[in-house]
Amino acid sequence: MNIHEYQAKGLLAEFGIPVPRGSMALSADEAVAAARELGGSVWVVKAQIHAGGRGKAGGVRICRSINEVEAAASDLIGATLVTRQTGKAGKQVHKVYVEEGLKIQKELYLSLLVDRETESVAFVVSPSGGMDIEQVAAQTPEKILSVAVDRDTGVDDKTAATMASFLSLQDTGSFSVVAKNLYRLFVEKDATLLELNPLVVTPNGLVALDAKFAVDDSALYRQVDIAAMRDIDEEDPRETEAAQSGLNYIALDGNIGCMVNGAGLAMATMDIIQLKGEKPANFLDVGGGVTIEAVREAFKLLFTDDHVKAVLVNIFGGIVRCDIIANGLIEAVKTYPMRVPVVMRLVGTNEEEGRKLIHDAGLDVRWADDLDQAATLAAEAIK
Ligand code: GDP
Ligand code: MN
Repeated sequence: MNIHEYQAKGLLAEFGIPVPRGSMALSADEAVAAARELGGSVWVVKAQIHAGGRGKAGGVRICRSINEVEAAASDLIGATLVTRQTGKAGKQVHKVYVEEGLKIQKELYLSLLVDRETESVAFVVSPSGGMDIEQVAAQTPEKILSVAVDRDTGVDDKTAATMASFLSLQDTGSFSVVAKNLYRLFVEKDATLLELNPLVVTPNGLVALDAKFAVDDSALYRQVDIAAMRDIDEEDPRETEAAQSGLNYIALDGNIGCMVNGAGLAMATMDIIQLKGEKPANFLDVGGGVTIEAVREAFKLLFTDDHVKAVLVNIFGGIVRCDIIANGLIEAVKTYPMRVPVVMRLVGTNEEEGRKLIHDAGLDVRWADDLDQAATLAAEAIK
């Protein structure tokens, strides 16, 4: 789960990492009040969406008067921002963050992530911050340093000094404090990513000017404060709806809607769709103890998705009973018509009963005996 920049900065402050003073605003009036409260003569109004690349898309406005703050906030709130990370549809802005403007001497890149290769948390740092780090990695990889942190010792002064020197920072001591606090935050808050792009050098020292924080979903049960930061507006409504029905659903950008039981089988199903030259519209694992109601919900997600041009049902019934899947489909089509071809591979527990239910309901599905045939039929149905 991701949180907003202003929320991530709250966490940074809590762990002693310097951030600009700022305040979140839901309207232009609130933004003006926030700017007055902050004082000074330069403010930065930043769109709060769960996507980066806002700067280049006009989502970060430097303002030199209260009038400019008001104009920037009313311009941004309610607008749809299209950045290189949002996709074509963009993201609607509901909130802005109003910060004091800072004198920036240098923009650095710093992130922490879980490095599976070394099985540790790693820092990635670069003196070329503020811009597209992917571009730096592709064009000037020598400008990026990656350092794995020893799990037993944590960030020691030597590691910190290596990074500080790579970043050409004179004040190794204060960088070391920042690095240690970032690591502590990362570990204590069960982060999967913490990215400061940029971390800036100012006349008053290092400041985290931008912050992205992602928490491990599996740790949300114990990160109650972070779980409460969830912003439903930022999440795919289909994924939210699916989660409420206990379905594991992830929207993808292909055209074959999938319904499968078991994560492994769902992955295999997506692979074989690709082998047939098509792309899955989603990952969907209905799980083992699925109910008719949840199956109905799953079909609803597929039938109401405009991207879905064919549906592939791949059920290998063990704990899942085929009659439950059949009844879920029968319930779904009462409200959501079967507007695309449906290919079914339905085997295992209560297979015959399931097939009979669908036949008796007069539903026109295309039957497949195995996964390969099912994928072939689904790919053909699209053409
Ligand atoms: P992103 O484009 O979504 O990653 O948004 P950032 O928060 O990284 O902002 C983009 C750029 O705006 C930064 O790299 C800075 O150059 C600039 N910026 C952001 N905040 C300030 C500020 O307080 N003062 C100044 N002068 N520039 C800022
Ligand atoms: Mn940034």
